[in-house]
Amino acid sequence: MAARGPTPHFTWSELGSPPEAHRERAGHLARHLERLRSICGGRPLQLVSAFRSTEKNASVGGAERSQHLYARAADIPRGYATTAQAEEAGFTGIGSQGRWAIHVDVRSGPPARWTYPG
Ligand SMILES: [Zn+2]
Repeated sequence: MAARGPTPHFTWSELGSPPEAHRERAGHLARHLERLRSICGGRPLQLVSAFRSTEKNASVGGAERSQHLYARAADIPRGYATTAQAEEAGFTGIGSQGRWAIHVDVRSGPPARWTYPG
């Protein structure tokens, strides 16, 4: 039987059903999400969005080079974690104060922080 997901608490489906070519990166993302979940006391973490195909990304108005396209990003419910907790979990890109969600990603290169316009 195929594994439901790369880590105990995140299934491939919850990670946006990344195709084979993106699964290694999605696993890397999931390990960071596990770390965040544990930093936040092990509370269930329901992802709002993770991997997105080009079509899906366009349909939700995602950035053209969104980290979601590379299975490096997840949106988590607003209020689940603080920016400091996301940093502690090792996320390098953190977009906070989204209406529903905050964005966390494991981009390579310089860390990025931003807030979404209200
Ligand atoms: Zn996002």
